[in-house]
Parts: sequence; structure tokens; C-alpha cells
Amino acid sequence: MNTLIRNGRIIDPANKRDEVADLAIVDGRIADLSAIRNLPFAIEEIDASNLIVAPGLIDMHVHLREPGYAWKETIASGARAAAAGGFTTIVCMPNTSPIADSPSTISWIKDRAHETACVHVLPTGAISKNLAGEELAPIGSLAQAGVVAITDDGHCIQNNELMRRAIEYARMVGVPLLDHCQDYNLAGQGVVHEGYWSALLGLPGWPAAGEEAIVARNILLAQLCDHHIHCQHISAAGSVRLLREARARGVKISGEVCPHHIALTDESIQNFDTNYKMNPPLRAEADVAALLEGIKDGTLDILASDHAPHAKFEKEVEFDQAPFGILGLETELGLFIDLLVYKTGTIGLPRVVEMFTANPARLLKINAGTLTVGASADVTLIDPELEWTVDASSFESLSCNTPFNGWKLKGRAVRTIVGGRTVWQL
Ligand SMILES: [Zn+2]
Repeated sequence: MNTLIRNGRIIDPANKRDEVADLAIVDGRIADLSAIRNLPFAIEEIDASNLIVAPGLIDMHVHLREPGYAWKETIASGARAAAAGGFTTIVCMPNTSPIADSPSTISWIKDRAHETACVHVLPTGAISKNLAGEELAPIGSLAQAGVVAITDDGHCIQNNELMRRAIEYARMVGVPLLDHCQDYNLAGQGVVHEGYWSALLGLPGWPAAGEEAIVARNILLAQLCDHHIHCQHISAAGSVRLLREARARGVKISGEVCPHHIALTDESIQNFDTNYKMNPPLRAEADVAALLEGIKDGTLDILASDHAPHAKFEKEVEFDQAPFGILGLETELGLFIDLLVYKTGTIGLPRVVEMFTANPARLLKINAGTLTVGASADVTLIDPELEWTVDASSFESLSCNTPFNGWKLKGRAVRTIVGGRTVWQL
């Protein structure tokens, strides 16, 4: 498959490149322009005038529900949703059934992805057996089986000594550790942010301190073990302050932001719509402001969705009974461009691309997120000016649990190319 993408604005942060130029794809790889001009046979041409030509985007926080919960999402449907959102690589979380805490489950996921997924699906393995936080999973064997990171996402190891040993093993086998930061005693039975709205509505609160306490713990352990801990879906102002201070001292710690935590506040829960129920919960305006500040100054350097599909019947129950989580893959790029670039002017488009490509690729040490000659031709074409309306009924995902249905956004992916082959096009 040989293609010439013409006249696009190539933004390739890994190579510090931002210019209008042509991009050549030969045999599924990024090629030198001279290579394509000398080809003896026909090539496909794509006009990318007024479009951004970015390395294929990476979402390092996705819940595919296979094995075990295929009515919510399968690896195939999640991959299609990813492609429709502009993603060529997704990293899936281990809270499947069975839990991805053994090499055989990792192999199953990789095989299934190879057979059915239209984008790259990279598995993570559990830190603890059965995500129970009591006994370590076989981290060495998981790394050998090909996980790109270990995480108990959805759960959080409360025993600091066990967490320390997990980080030491992760360091030994060379994979980063991703953590869902939640102190169980502080969060208790909380289903929403503890504050004005939880008090008014009489819903149990999950205080910001429940996240901040674990971020602080992770900073101490990253320092003690000299290994990278990545804090997932940061939601609280205090977490941003802790990360900023630690990163300035060179501690191997990082944090990611999900779109709902900057698009919405806990005020949204007043209608008891369970599409506003996620973990960590939507927080207060001051937290949103702190997240934006953290994105602006580089404290938070990765964007991700926490794509968490749930079926309608599961979400259509009382607020405190409903499962946590919302969809993300098909709306996140539009939300981030619209909110970060246009509405708040927090960062520019090149930085958005960097936070979705070079930064997660570096953290996970994967060969992705770049348009370097010779790299797999994973490319996302983005129209930064395109105005569109979110329509959950047209989603590729098997679920439709989103609070953003009907939102008008500016900016979205219009074509997704994996290994030189177009897997999705608007
Ligand atoms: Zn989580």
C-alpha cells in the first residue's frame, strides 16, 4: 500500500517537526519522499490541505470489555471506536473476566486483537492477583507475555509495602506502573465528589484527599524505588500541586487527564444522570482550573480517555447503584481540541498531538507516536476547524454511556491510517 499524503500540516512532536509538507507511505511504513517518486507503479494520493497530519494517536487508558463482558464492548468494537476517534494504538486495562493477571490471558487478548482489531491493542497486566491488592501477580511472566505496563486500574493497592514490591519488580522487568489513585478508607462508599453538591443531594462523597493521599504515596515510592509511576485520571487540584513539586525534583512520576474532568464539574450530578458518574468523580471548578494549569505548565503531560463502556440497562438504575465510567474514544479528541485549544487557550494543537503521541510512547517505551522514516505508517488526519455534533447513536462502540451527546465541538479526526491502510474515514 503506497500513499502520498499531500499538503498537510505535519505535526510530529517526537521529531520536533511542524511544517506543511507531503508525507510518503511505502509498504506500510513512513518513507522518504524520494522513495515514492521513484516507484514504478501507481500510488494513492490523499489531499490533506488544511488538515493536520499527525502520528497515529495513542490512548493509554481504555477499557475493552473482552474477555468476559462482550455485551458492553469487544476488542473489535473498541478498536473500531478508537479508529473513529483518530486512535491507532490503544492500551487496554486488565479488569476483564478473567482478570488479565496471567500470561495466558495476555496471550488470549493479543491473539484476539490480532484477529479482530483494526488498530493496535496493547494489553496491560494486573499488579495484584485478581486485582485484590493482597498478593502480587506474576509481573515477570506478564512482562514476558508482552504487557506494556502493569496496573490494577479500577482498584488501588492500599498496602504500601506490597506496592513497593510491585514497583521494584516493575523496575526489574522494565515496565512502568500505572496507578488508579484512591485511598479506600477516605473514599469510603463515595459515589460523587465530596463537596457542596454531595451535601445538597445527599449522595455519599469521595473527597479529593482520597486521591491526593495516594498520589503523595506514589511520589514517595517512585523516589524510594527510583522507578516510574504514572498516576491515572488525575482529578484533584492537590494532586496537581504534588506532581508539580515532585517532577521539579526529578522524581519519576507523571499524571494523565481525561476529558470529562476538564469538561464538567460536580454541578452536573444534580439531575442524577448516571452518565455523570465516574471514578474518580467530577470535581469542583477550582479542580478544573488546576488541571488546566497543570496541562499548561507540563505537570500533566498525557491525555487519555478512561473509555469505560457500560450497557444501558446497567446505567439505568439508581445513582449510587450504577457502575462508574463513561465512553471516551469517539469524543475525546474533539473535546480536548475544543476545550484546550479554542475555549480556554490552554495549549496549542502541537501540544495536544504531543500529549497523545510522543509522551505516551516514551512512557510505555513503544514504537509508535512518530512519523520517523521507517516507522509503521500509523497516521491520523485531523481537521482542526471542523465543527460537529456528538451523536451517540452513531458510535462504533457497543455502548452509548456518554454525557456529551448533542455537544457541539470544533476539531476531529477525519481519517485514521494503520500500517498504511485506511481503517476509518469520516
Ligand atoms: Zn481508574
